[in-house]
Amino acid sequence: MQGITFPGDRRAVLKDFPDPEPGPGEVVVRMRASGMCGSDLHFYRGTASFGGGPDMIQGHEPCGEVHAVGAGVTPDMAAVGDRVMIHHYWACETCDHCRSGWPQMCDGGDVHTLCIDEPGGHAPYMVVPVRTLLPLPDGLSFKAGAAVGCGTGTAWGGLKRLGDLGGANLVVLGQGPVGLSGTMLASALGARVIGVDINDARLERAHGFGASHVVNSATADLTEVIQDLTGGRGADLVLETSGRANADALKILGKWGRACFIGLPGDVSFRTEDVFRNQWTLMTSWTLSSIEQGRCADFIASRELPVDDLFTRSWSLDQAAEAYAWFDRQTDGKGVFEW
Ligand SMILES: [Zn+2]
Ligand SMILES: [Zn+2]
Repeated sequence: MQGITFPGDRRAVLKDFPDPEPGPGEVVVRMRASGMCGSDLHFYRGTASFGGGPDMIQGHEPCGEVHAVGAGVTPDMAAVGDRVMIHHYWACETCDHCRSGWPQMCDGGDVHTLCIDEPGGHAPYMVVPVRTLLPLPDGLSFKAGAAVGCGTGTAWGGLKRLGDLGGANLVVLGQGPVGLSGTMLASALGARVIGVDINDARLERAHGFGASHVVNSATADLTEVIQDLTGGRGADLVLETSGRANADALKILGKWGRACFIGLPGDVSFRTEDVFRNQWTLMTSWTLSSIEQGRCADFIASRELPVDDLFTRSWSLDQAAEAYAWFDRQTDGKGVFEW
């Protein structure tokens, strides 16, 4: 089979790999959708300080059907034909973090991450431990399951860390695929969402995903507009998804505000006295747990949220170069490879 690799100089190259076989406790998943995530761009551009190198199959938003099961995988664990999402990390399985669904935080230190340590989903087949599988709800498409695996799931994880959203004024900074997901999910969870971006086309889409108001921060005075929209209180909550508006997040945050920074990497600067006088809570959020991944999918399915509409382009594997050149411009929506 062939899979997409990144030599690290803004090229996406197909390379030959053997078809994977399932070992004990493993399954081979036949890929049906493999999402393009913003964090792919760090590896594509060669700007990440870590990564899987030039021979690693990329893609950490896989979704598909079980194709083959290894020794010890019983039918209650997985069966050929099951529609599955994948939590894209695995580790020791016995420490507190692994047992609570957070293998990316494993105490043992031997964390396996798709597309960094293990071959990812940008190929027709992928092998993973059976314990990484989650059922894909009937109402969700494969590409929706892919989005929940990282981009949309990361927005869900950030919102869960922010806490109670009901009735709050939430500003979502950045309306790319993660920010739009935040707008969509937070609106459904009861927040009044103000979407911010510097791209009018993205702001137009934010309305369709539930934003009550949108602001172009390149042309408007963001602080002034947020003050106006909140009766002078400032934002109750901020979800920063762009990685470029950390300073804006603190400028618009009201007293007792909570801000979550999920656009990585980036510096956040603050005077402790400002945090103190405003009683702010500042946090970040690392993707989401396997448990929350399942809950996010169930929530989207039960509310029939338009997660498929996050995707503006669908590609086949042999269009990898064109697909990533398009995604690298970061002016449109989300892309997905489909089979
Ligand atoms: Zn562990
Ligand atoms: Zn990702």
